[in-house]
Amino acid sequence: MYIGVHVSIAGNIAEALDRAKALRCNAMQIFSRNPRQWRQLELSSQDIEEFKQRRKKYKIEKVVVHIPYLINLASPYKTLYRNSIKAYIEDLKEADNIGAEFLVTHMGSHADTSELAGIDRFASALNTIFDKTKGIKTKLLLENTSGSGSWLGYKFIHHRMIYNRVKQSERLGICLDTAHAFTAGYDLKSEIGLNSMLSEIDELVGVNQIEVIHFNDSKKDFSSHLDQHENIGKGKIGFLALQRIIKHPKLKNSVFILETPKVEKDDDKMNLSIVKKMAK
Ligand SMILES: [Zn+2]
Repeated sequence: MYIGVHVSIAGNIAEALDRAKALRCNAMQIFSRNPRQWRQLELSSQDIEEFKQRRKKYKIEKVVVHIPYLINLASPYKTLYRNSIKAYIEDLKEADNIGAEFLVTHMGSHADTSELAGIDRFASALNTIFDKTKGIKTKLLLENTSGSGSWLGYKFIHHRMIYNRVKQSERLGICLDTAHAFTAGYDLKSEIGLNSMLSEIDELVGVNQIEVIHFNDSKKDFSSHLDQHENIGKGKIGFLALQRIIKHPKLKNSVFILETPKVEKDDDKMNLSIVKKMAK
């Protein structure tokens, strides 16, 4: 079983591995760039080499890179759209360079145009990006959202529509965020609700497409369309329902990544120990 947390890339990128290792994780997630900035320095070949060596030594088996929210491939605004495509190409190449298995992305915001127009723009951008990154092994995972504002991806028919429109759809997968699904209106608190969501995913894209699970409890209510993560077992989804998810036979090959709040110094440690207990 793969369990990890989202760790900071402050300092050198290889230091992110030190943080994951200190928490005894066998997987981890990092941002591809500072979430508040467009630019970052390109990684040197030395940085990449160091990252690969340390990763091997620490036995971090799965590395997930996350694209920040600033980047929006569904945007109707030409400059943002163009810059987003450029940033994706850079991030996908860099994720592949460090040997990351997955690059997670949200599906963007259509900014009050229409869902269909947003999905068309998103898919057409992906076709450009995939054309320019042929041969790259890192898979691109589409994350579900809580459905606030104009954000796409709060229901899995959106994922299906993207798969239909992307030529190299074998390079896609799904990142399932439990807190987002719950606040988007999938009742993960009940066994029936969980299974009906998984059947829906299975019919639309295949449950085997769920490569990564953002394993978060929710501070916000069911179907509230609000996005605020909570410590594992302390939120509206709760311990038993989260345990049902992590022990679900259909999800046993997925990589579980915690994006829980980091308020106190030992919060990650505390959440991980709860997760490991519930997974037993
Ligand atoms: Zn997430």
